[in-house]
Amino acid sequence: MPELDETLAEELADWAAAGLRRELRPVAATTGSRLVVEGQDLINFASNDYLGLIHHPELQEAAVQALRDWGSGSGASRLVSGSLALHHHLEESLAHWKGTAAALTFGSGYATALGVIPALIGSDDVVILDKRVHACCVDGAQLSRAKLRVYRHNDLGSLEEVLKWADQRRGSGKSRILIVTESVFSMDGDQAPLPALVELKERYGAWLMVDEAHSLGLFGPSGSGLIHALELNTRVEIQMGTLGKALASAGGYVAGSRSLIDFLIHRARSFMFSTAPAPAAVASAQTALKLIQGDEGARRCSRVWALARQLAEQLQPGRPPTSAILPLILGPAEAAVDAAAHLRALGFWVPAIRDPTVARDSARLRFSVTAGHEFADVQQLFGSLPPRSNMTTPPPVNPHSLQ
Ligand SMILES: *Cc1c(COP(=O)(O)O)cnc(C)c1O
Repeated sequence: MPELDETLAEELADWAAAGLRRELRPVAATTGSRLVVEGQDLINFASNDYLGLIHHPELQEAAVQALRDWGSGSGASRLVSGSLALHHHLEESLAHWKGTAAALTFGSGYATALGVIPALIGSDDVVILDKRVHACCVDGAQLSRAKLRVYRHNDLGSLEEVLKWADQRRGSGKSRILIVTESVFSMDGDQAPLPALVELKERYGAWLMVDEAHSLGLFGPSGSGLIHALELNTRVEIQMGTLGKALASAGGYVAGSRSLIDFLIHRARSFMFSTAPAPAAVASAQTALKLIQGDEGARRCSRVWALARQLAEQLQPGRPPTSAILPLILGPAEAAVDAAAHLRALGFWVPAIRDPTVARDSARLRFSVTAGHEFADVQQLFGSLPPRSNMTTPPPVNPHSLQ
């Protein structure tokens, strides 16, 4: 048997040859919208800190205070001795913000999906995933051992076909059907047709789980997300998200009914068997939540949309943005890698997104704008883009766009 290193080095070499080699590049300093990497100053168009809160003095102050009051860690899982008052406070605030009865925090958004789906769904059940959901939902679904089905991205007809099959299979039995989507898709920035999805799942007696990682801070009353903006907050059973993006901290959450949360406390293994989120992270998320719901949040939110409109006018004329994420689809991995290198040489940090994050033939540059950007940054970025002869046609306008 070949040595481990030999075996792995061979595979690594194959990936490099296919333009799929990945590198971790240490960021030496950052202000959120600016980075220093390998001695070079770069404008960062790759951050999910949409509201530009990562360096906000109030968040930092809250984190420092929590560190002093509660220490550097939570010391145990929530069910042992780690359920600190500040976790409960954050969960009450999250539920209030999302317009749900209750909420529960996890160590990360990834851990949230990994815990929640297998807690609710088992081998007799069916999970139906939008083709483009985040890896955490795919992995959570796989861990559940349910039958997995995928429907074409945002395609209600394709979903209904699967629902019919699942419904028939269920017969008069009690097997569960769970549909999983994102409200704003992480790599395309488009929106799911949530009202129609809710209508469909109700018709078929399925449950709906929506990942709001990229819509928090940018939609709805006080930035609480697209579900709430569409007044679907009492109709989507399972609402998850991350504290790591617009909330500028770390951790994940699920929001929903009191029974859902009580059930997850007993059954979500990534909650039960993992140390509770660190006090400093919880406190900064709590403060971000307060800021987002106030005037400052509203100002930052409208700035993000103005920047996104500016970039969309240039990247995709005639199609307003549907989120703060704008992809430039280039096709082959090499094209995306070359375009990213070209931009980096000109002072922009925009990594190439490739397989397995997106489909093999749809490698891209993914731009995200944040409230920390200047309008001049976007202007300069557009002036620096490489020629786009091999760009594929952009997807059609989403009719459910709110912005
Ligand atoms: C980032 C992301 C997650 C994971 O959240 P983390 O807190 O970073 O683990 C989950 N879902 C989507 C759609 C994401 O973009």
